Amino acid sequence: MVIILDGKAGDEQIGAVERILAEAGLSADVSRGVEKVVIGAIGATDDERIALPEQLEALPFVERVMLVSKPYKRVARERNPNGTTVRVGDVHIGENEPQLCVMAGPCSVENREQILVTARAVKSAGATVLRGGAFKPRTLPYDFQGLGRPGLEYLAEARRETGLPIVTEVLAPEDVELVGEYSDIYQVGTRNMQNYALLRALGETRKPVLFKRGMAATIDEYLKAAEYILSGGNEDVILCERGIRGFDAEHYRNVFDLNAIPALRRLTHLPILADPSHGTGIRELVPAMARAAIAAGADGLMLEVHPEPAKAMSDGRQALTPDDFTDLMDGLKRIAAAVERIV
Ligand code: PEP
Ligand code: MN
Repeated sequence: MVIILDGKAGDEQIGAVERILAEAGLSADVSRGVEKVVIGAIGATDDERIALPEQLEALPFVERVMLVSKPYKRVARERNPNGTTVRVGDVHIGENEPQLCVMAGPCSVENREQILVTARAVKSAGATVLRGGAFKPRTLPYDFQGLGRPGLEYLAEARRETGLPIVTEVLAPEDVELVGEYSDIYQVGTRNMQNYALLRALGETRKPVLFKRGMAATIDEYLKAAEYILSGGNEDVILCERGIRGFDAEHYRNVFDLNAIPALRRLTHLPILADPSHGTGIRELVPAMARAAIAAGADGLMLEVHPEPAKAMSDGRQALTPDDFTDLMDGLKRIAAAVERIV
C-alpha cells in the first residue's frame, strides 16, 4: 500500500500515519518530496487489514491511498497462476482442460416431459451439463416463479437417465440445503451477485458454484463478490459472463461483454464460462456470440435450449431449438480446434 500525503504534512501528520500502520503490524517507508510526502506500507496485508485504506483515506491530510496488491486474495491469479480446474464428476472445467464445458437446457423446468426431452436432445448434441431453473428470479412477481422442489426432482430424473450433472439456480440462503440435495452445481444469477448472505452460505458448502456476473457489476465488484465464496472455504467457483446493461435494448437484451473473458483470465485463476443466451437475448445472435466467446478463450458456454421456444414460460425469445443447438455445436468445432480445445 502506498499513502500519498499533502506536501505540507509535517512530522505530526506523518507520525499519525506511522502509528496507524504500526498498530496493523506494518512499518512505514517515508519519502518527503517538495509537493508530496509518499509513505510505503511495508509488510503483508491480510484480510483483517483491508479496512486500513479507508481509515487512512479519512485523514484530512491524506490525498490518496493506492493498493499495490489485489484486494481479492483467493480469487487472484497469483494464487494459482496455472489456472484452476473445477471437477464435477467426470466433467472437468478450466483453462487446462481441452474439453469445453457446455451447460445446456431450458431457462425454466416447466414439466417432467419438457426437461426429459430437452436433456436427451442436448446430451446427444454434446452438452456436458444439464441446466434448468426450478427457482426463477423473475423481474415481476406475477411471472412464472419456477416449480420449486418438483422441478428439482424432474432434473434429478433427467440426470439419472442421461448421466448429465445438473446446474440449477439457488435464490436464497434458506434454499441452499434443499437445492444442494439435488444439484451438482449451484447457480447464482445476475440479480444475486451481490447477495452476500447467499454467497457466504455457498462458501460454507463444498459444491461448485456457477457464479454469474451482475448485470451492472464492474469486473472488480464481480471478483470481490466471488471472494466471499472462496473466503468461506469453497474454492470451486466458475465465473460466467452473461452480458451487462447497455443503452440499446431494441436489438439485443444486453451487451455481451467479450472483453471480460480475457480480462478475467489475467486477473483470476477461476474457470470462465460465457452465456450468449442471456448475453444477447435473441436466438439468432446466439451462435455467432458462442463462437466468439470460445475464440476469446472461454472455458465453456451456458446455452438455453427449449423443445418449443414459442411456448416457453421464460426466455423463449433467446431459446435455441434442439436442432439449432445441434447446428451450433457443429459450428463450434472448428473454432474450438483453432484455440486448441474440443467440444
Ligand atoms: C438463467 O440462467 O436463466 C438466468 C436467470 O440467468 P441470469 O441470472 O444471467 O439472468
Ligand atoms: Mn433464462
